[in-house]
Parts: sequence; C-alpha cells; structure tokens
Amino acid sequence: MTDGDAGHRLAGGSRLARGLRRGAPVPAQLTVLSGPPGVGKGTVAARLKERCPWIWQSVSVTTRLRRPGETEGQEYFFATKDQFQQMVADGELLEWAENYGNLYGTPRAPVLQRLDKGLPALLELDVKGALQVRAAVPGALLVFLAPPTWEELVRRLTGRGTESPEVISRRLEAARYELAAESEFDITLVNTSVEDVCDQLVSLMLAQEPNGQTGNDCNPDPEGTRWQRLRP
Ligand code: 5GP
Repeated sequence: MTDGDAGHRLAGGSRLARGLRRGAPVPAQLTVLSGPPGVGKGTVAARLKERCPWIWQSVSVTTRLRRPGETEGQEYFFATKDQFQQMVADGELLEWAENYGNLYGTPRAPVLQRLDKGLPALLELDVKGALQVRAAVPGALLVFLAPPTWEELVRRLTGRGTESPEVISRRLEAARYELAAESEFDITLVNTSVEDVCDQLVSLMLAQEPNGQTGNDCNPDPEGTRWQRLRP
C-alpha cells in the first residue's frame, strides 16, 4: 500500500494525513495510543472499551494505589514495587516506565499471544512506553493523541488548582517533553472530540480489511469473529 492509498482510505484532519506520510506501517496488528499527560488518552481508551468491547485492550501492571472505583484486573493489575521489579527482571513486561513516582508496565505474554493469533491489540501508554514498543514490535502503529492547543493542555493539567505549584510545573515540563516526541509517531489525532478520536482509531484498526473498507462500525463482536475474518 502506498502512503497515498492510506491517506485516501482514512478519514481525518490534515494532521492525520500528514502523520500517514511519515510512513505509518498500515495495516498494523498492534496499535499504541499515546500522548502527553492530561491529553485524555485514558478517557478515549475507556470510551472505546464501552463502544467497542470486541477491541482487545491490554491491562497494565502498576505500583500506584488503586483509586476509588477501580477493580483489580480491569483498569490495572496492582502490584508492589518488589513484584513489579521481579516482573522486569523476569522479562515479563513488553515495556515499562515511571510516572510521578509510580511504575507502569505492559504484560508481554497476553499481547504476544494475541498477535500470534493474528488478532489486533490496543495499548494505551505514556510516550516513553510507546517508544519502547516501537523498538520491541517494529510493525506497531504508534498513534499520538495531541491536545487541540497548548493552552487547553495547561488547563487540563492544572485542573482544579488543588496541586502545589511544584507538581504543576513538573507536569507541564513532562507534557512539553512528550509533545516534542510527536514526530516519532506514525499518526497524530487531535483530541477535539472523544467520539471522533474513537471513530478514527477504529478506522485505523480496520484499515486492514481485505476489501479496503475502512468502516467506523462498532458492532459488539465478543467472539472476535470480525477480526478473525481479517486474517489472510
Ligand atoms: P494513571 O495513573 O492516571 O492511570 O496513568 C498515568 C500514566 O501512565 C498515563 O499517562 C498512562 O497512559 C500511563 N500508563 C498506563 N499504563 C501504562 C503502561 O503499561 N506503560 C506505560 N509506559 N505507561 C502507562
């Protein structure tokens, strides 16, 4: 497929088309949704889970404390620092990174099992983790979720104004670093609307339809038969 074909097949704004010209390896089995803190990637991933429960999403391991409403094995697997470090030592994580003093990582085995079967997988990670996945799985499609404007990101990061100025300035510094990594990604989606970003992500994941159909169709398919059909 040429870049021109991909640009033609995928709906989206000019940044999406520009991203495709960076040489995105479409079709991709492994899609990574990433972006700076506060951009809303967790919200997009959660909404996608509601809309398209048949899109398999990896559940990360973290050492951070469980928040109210979170369930073990659903949002995260919660681990102690020792348990996490043991997983790293045993090579059980595809990638891992530290965020605000907590460790986060992607269990390797479930992702590889999925890919071995020719079925797509979606990861939602910070930028450091996404770039590690690029090295570990060269064919992965790295999607950068960008804020509509820097001011909007600052507004989201400063939130309710309850955090100390040190915490806020650390967050802004991290966001600046992560925004600068955008050019290393295959595609940029601008988060002007959670629903639009979900549509575009589904289009990207379905871009491997043999008949070239992109489709934003989100019919639940718990058996995964839709993806099975996509196998050559
Ligand atoms: P939170 O604690 O708010 O759920 O997540 C904090 C940050 O960790 C977010 O930027 C999220 O994308 C990132 N994150 C979640 N899971 C993983 C993971 O498995 N690996 C990496 N590198 N980052 C993750």
